[in-house]
Amino acid sequence: MTADAPDDDRTSFADLGLRPELLRALSGLGYEEPTPIQREAIAPLVEGRDLLGQAATGTGKTAAFALPVLERMGDGGRTDTEPFALVLVPTRELAVQVSEAVHRYGRELGARVLPIYGGQPIGRQLRVLEQGVDVVVATPGRAVDHLNRGTLKLDKLQIVVLDEADEMLDMGFAEDLDAILAEAPEDRQTVLFSATMPPRIDRLARRHLTDPVRITIGREQTEPGEAPRVRQSAYVVPRAHKPAALGRVLDVEAPTAAIVFCRTRDEVDQLTETLNGRGYRAESLHGGISQEQRDRVMARLRNGTADLLVATDVAARGLDVEQLTHVVNYNVPSAPESYVHRIGRVGRAGREGVAITLAEPREHGMLKTIERVTKQRIQMEKVPTVADLRARRLELTRAALHESLLEDDLEGFRVVVETLADEFDVVEIALAAVKLAHEATGAAADEEEIPEFVPRDRDRRGAPLGGERRERRPRRPTAGMTRLFVGAGRSAGIRPQDIVGAIAGEARLNGREIGAIEIADRFSLVEVPDNAAQQVITALRGATIKGRKVTVRRERDDNR
Ligand code: AMP
Repeated sequence: MTADAPDDDRTSFADLGLRPELLRALSGLGYEEPTPIQREAIAPLVEGRDLLGQAATGTGKTAAFALPVLERMGDGGRTDTEPFALVLVPTRELAVQVSEAVHRYGRELGARVLPIYGGQPIGRQLRVLEQGVDVVVATPGRAVDHLNRGTLKLDKLQIVVLDEADEMLDMGFAEDLDAILAEAPEDRQTVLFSATMPPRIDRLARRHLTDPVRITIGREQTEPGEAPRVRQSAYVVPRAHKPAALGRVLDVEAPTAAIVFCRTRDEVDQLTETLNGRGYRAESLHGGISQEQRDRVMARLRNGTADLLVATDVAARGLDVEQLTHVVNYNVPSAPESYVHRIGRVGRAGREGVAITLAEPREHGMLKTIERVTKQRIQMEKVPTVADLRARRLELTRAALHESLLEDDLEGFRVVVETLADEFDVVEIALAAVKLAHEATGAAADEEEIPEFVPRDRDRRGAPLGGERRERRPRRPTAGMTRLFVGAGRSAGIRPQDIVGAIAGEARLNGREIGAIEIADRFSLVEVPDNAAQQVITALRGATIKGRKVTVRRERDDNR
């Protein structure tokens, strides 16, 4: 293992011609280097060129256009009330997100940013527009409303950005876009980003862009065989649940040594702290860490006193950790090349390697791009549920007891069993002993359920449109409800609707009377009203679920 300092031959934000105020903002946010789309797009945009870029969410495209907009706007001396730049986005969420990003990057420059979208009372938007703004981030419909009212004026506009243009066309905004662009000055700069490039986007670009620079992120061909043979899986997890999901995945995977990649320094520090708080031995590595600290961290990994390294790409460059078994992408990497590069750290010299990616629901499209470029499949997995974890922990206790039974050093304990046997059944004594052994492993986890993300439908790019289906299950059954154990789960193809169907059909219970349902790999848990529990058990004992007879009983504590 070597711990070389990161090499310095990469483009930095300073190389891209950004002013110090912006560089300070980026450094404050913990961005260590530009993503590929930023490397390619920022310089031509700062020069004033039009640009046609193919890039999905997660590539860093917002900063790729926001930074040049702010750079071109100057150092805060603008006094015009009419906007300098207009960013058009398909949804209200994106409008808020993009304006927050512009605000963050442009804070030192005093950039005045306003999101405008339908659904928000127009009064506030009118007041702010009147006072003067530099950057307006708008959905096309609301932008047209303001143009018609004369409350949004585009005479001073120098840059128009169409973000997620394919989405805007799909949502029927084509005419609105044409109307807005017709009002903008002829000599403005126009930037168009789109995740896909169907002919309609090409036509839109031909109508409104002049001699654009063309950039495609995620289309480079990786040589077959270049990407290493590594078991690759991904979990779609809402942002708020990522630390818990990572902990759970690590529990199940039990890596010998793993590197967890984060986007920014702050994220590295926070995640390291969280992981250490959860009992892992994690060390952080990022650009803000001195060579001396870096050497110490590497030594701890080498001698096994640390087993997780949480790092940014820059800090991990040049690291070759021989005992590494797992690479974890805490976010989807900003480009397929970065993904390939990261996962190339494991699976070397015939050793098994595992790559795990945590994706937020909106980053699903980027995962698909990575699969397409690498021509390798990333297996979508479900985050282990609380029940899965409990089942696995019980399995570990069972295995430990099995091992102990094979050794013959148990005689010394016979007296305990024999004296208790006067009073209790031997099986019950065994159960109590198992309980104590199980609890002694520290397995009494007090975990919250992580909502399962179930894409109900997908758009053309594979981006999930669905929501989070599963409710969080209380640790104890809801008052007035009894939780039943059903001896078949996900691996038998059982879905919540099968359980509801069986109970409603066999026990004549109304679907609405059935409470929380949890499907684990090998069993399921379902809540039914206390007074109907016995009736449901009796009815289901004679029935089949998905063509098989299953055990149904009241849940016992060992499933909790
Ligand atoms: P986007 O593709 O614009 O939605 O950006 C994806 C995420 O990457 C956002 O959370 C950004 O804050 C983050 N990000 C963008 N550029 C960088 C960078 N150069 N370094 C680290 N994080 C970045």
